[in-house]
Amino acid sequence: MRIEQPRIVAVLPELGVELRAETSLAALTSLGIGGTTDLLRVRKHLFLPQLIQLLKSEGIPFRFLGGGSNLLVANGELPWVMLQLVAGDPEIRLEGNYAFVDAAADLGRTVTFCAKNNLGGMEGLIGVPGTVGGALRMNAGAYGTQMGSFVREVKVYRAPTGEIETLRGEEIRFDYRHTSFAADDIMLAVKLELPSKAYPEIVKGIRICNEKRRASQPIGQKSAGCIFKNPPGASAGRLIDELGLKGFHVGDACVSDRHANFFINRGTSSCADMLALIAAVREKVRSNYGVELEEEVVVWRA
Ligand SMILES: Cc1cc2nc3c(=O)[nH]c(=O)nc-3n(C[C@H](O)[C@H](O)[C@H](O)COP(=O)(O)OP(=O)(O)OC[C@H]3O[C@@H](n4cnc5c(N)ncnc54)[C@H](O)[C@@H]3O)c2cc1C
Repeated sequence: MRIEQPRIVAVLPELGVELRAETSLAALTSLGIGGTTDLLRVRKHLFLPQLIQLLKSEGIPFRFLGGGSNLLVANGELPWVMLQLVAGDPEIRLEGNYAFVDAAADLGRTVTFCAKNNLGGMEGLIGVPGTVGGALRMNAGAYGTQMGSFVREVKVYRAPTGEIETLRGEEIRFDYRHTSFAADDIMLAVKLELPSKAYPEIVKGIRICNEKRRASQPIGQKSAGCIFKNPPGASAGRLIDELGLKGFHVGDACVSDRHANFFINRGTSSCADMLALIAAVREKVRSNYGVELEEEVVVWRA
């Protein structure tokens, strides 16, 4: 979708918004799949309510992009524009055991910055790509750690009120890859409380998690991490693996031979290929085990 209305184009710089016309989502997502649309890069949180009101008044649909590491996006000209936050400077500020982090900050950099300042706890999240905002939305987690455990406050643009509010940690539910934020809420910043830990000890934990990832995941290949959530009491990857589906593919969309719950784009996979692979694997798991797998990857159909 193109933003061509002169009224909007003229006002964007005043709202601290940079317009990148006809941006490829394939280039902005870790799966390397997705069509084109205009991208609005938001520099000033304060103006986000005005920007969204403007888009709504002009009937321009929008979606919100973090780091693009958990997204499967349709091909072709997309029927919505993208909003993306630009990280403030500094991205992270520390005060005792609290870290105040911009939602656009890279999660990995946040973990290592805190570690260097002797704040630990998030070692398990190292290697989860994407932004802190994306990790909040998804309640990202790995190796027994989940993002929500450290959250004390979130500054959020609330879709239902159209205003920026600060929510206390207790007001937010963090479940397995699910949070109680409204679908269109946009997380802007977070206050985390992290336990004090000596840097060398944190680094040891980080190394262990990195090694586990390297041993089990297709690092360096185009994926969105796990495609399906684990069903209660079982591992989606193990169920898929037991059916002998590693290497099973639709076009260039392929079940990884390293981790059966990672589906990779071997080169030129389309969104339709990936969706067909997801549907085929889900059907095989359903018919063999009676288990209905739920997607963890966020799918944006056009
Ligand atoms: C190699 C690899 C390994 C991975 N390993 C893990 C893992 O171990 N554990 C795990 O949980 N995930 C894992 N993932 C998935 C992914 O990295 C996480 O879900 C991550 O937290 C997504 O963050 P993002 O910024 O990239 O979000 P995006 O992919 O950009 O967006 C995902 C969703 O969050 C929304 N969103 C993003 N930012 C915001 C915001 N500020 N406000 C509101 N909504 C927002 C988007 O609208 C979208 O609905 C992995 C992915 C890859 C590629």
